[in-house]
Amino acid sequence: MGFHAMPSVVLWKEMSFPIKICVVCEEEFELKPDKPGFANRCPKCSVPEMDAPSGKTRRDADELKSSREANAARRQAIKDLLYSKK
Ligand SMILES: [Zn+2]
Repeated sequence: MGFHAMPSVVLWKEMSFPIKICVVCEEEFELKPDKPGFANRCPKCSVPEMDAPSGKTRRDADELKSSREANAARRQAIKDLLYSKK
């Protein structure tokens, strides 16, 4: 079939997904690229919690935003440091 000239085809056929340990139930699961939810949680524990207190999403968004700004500020500081060293 000519597949021997394309070893990557064989690799794909036998590809297995990385085995991860769920941080919630500590069970092993395959981390598939299309798995929804968190990368460190099994599919069972990736189901969104419906009883989360209201306002949590809002706070998380704010934290994400401020951490993003902190990252940007840190990058800028490193950049300044690099340029001032010239
Ligand atoms: Zn789990």
